[in-house]
Amino acid sequence: MFDYDDQNIFAQIIKGEIPADIVFEDDDFICFKDIAAQAPTHLLLIPKNQKVASIAAIQSEDVHWLGAMMILATNIAKDHGLNDSGYRLIFNSGEGAGQTVFHLHLHIIGGKKLSGQMV
Ligand code: AMP
Repeated sequence: MFDYDDQNIFAQIIKGEIPADIVFEDDDFICFKDIAAQAPTHLLLIPKNQKVASIAAIQSEDVHWLGAMMILATNIAKDHGLNDSGYRLIFNSGEGAGQTVFHLHLHIIGGKKLSGQMV
């Protein structure tokens, strides 16, 4: 279920093989707009150098880059003006949770009043 496929669509975006609307990129992470945005701001933050299919597949040795990723997510949310309105950071893990791309990614969602319903 959590096998990593080098040809997944986010791996292709990281390699520049297919385009994306990139809002942030450094050596370790890339963040781009979700192609099917579910809110005025809907970004995907993705590690570039980790072959991890899902948050359920992380190991204790992943703590450093994963912590950096979470801090980066809050900074990107702030840069997009989401601090005042509020936002959600979401990992979908597994097909039962709606995960469709098996390269770890964090949804950054905001820019509108979000439902009180989590599911
Ligand atoms: P998940 O359902 O958690 O696996 O999220 C995958 C997300 O990737 C979905 O919200 C899709 O809309 C988004 N997505 C799929 N292909 C692309 C693409 N080429 N560029 C940007 N976002 C994409």
